[in-house]
Amino acid sequence: MLTDGGIVLIDYKTGVVSVKDIVGETLLEPQLPLYALYGKHQPAMGVGIAQVRAGECIFKGVCATDADAHNTVKPLKGINSEEWEELREQWRSRLEQLAADIASGRADVKPAQAQVCQFCELHPLCRIKDTPGPVAPVREEL
Ligand code: SF4
Repeated sequence: MLTDGGIVLIDYKTGVVSVKDIVGETLLEPQLPLYALYGKHQPAMGVGIAQVRAGECIFKGVCATDADAHNTVKPLKGINSEEWEELREQWRSRLEQLAADIASGRADVKPAQAQVCQFCELHPLCRIKDTPGPVAPVREEL
């Protein structure tokens, strides 16, 4: 909890994560935005991923709060309250679209990263090799 009463939601990951997974165009970590918007711990004023990995322990995420409170969560990127509200609206829009896609049975073969397909054994099921053109971007900067 921040000194101004806001809550920062933190998820722990042992793999390499990126702040883009939360704030990027494609929501690769939708659970944190979901908790921030609809979770019982409110007011959510920031989200972060604690990357717990040998030699690479770090917090990544964003936090909207005043400068004093933000000092308690320094590793997170500070944003102002207007940016925080814009981010929440983006999350809401993407999550609602995702829910609508699931509810309508839409299941495009559209992995967020090409790398995940290398270790997947479901190629015959999703028929990704029959999908024309590049299907997924290769993950770059973290
Ligand atoms: S091979 Fe198909 S099912 Fe497996 S990760 Fe890629 S798109 Fe998804």
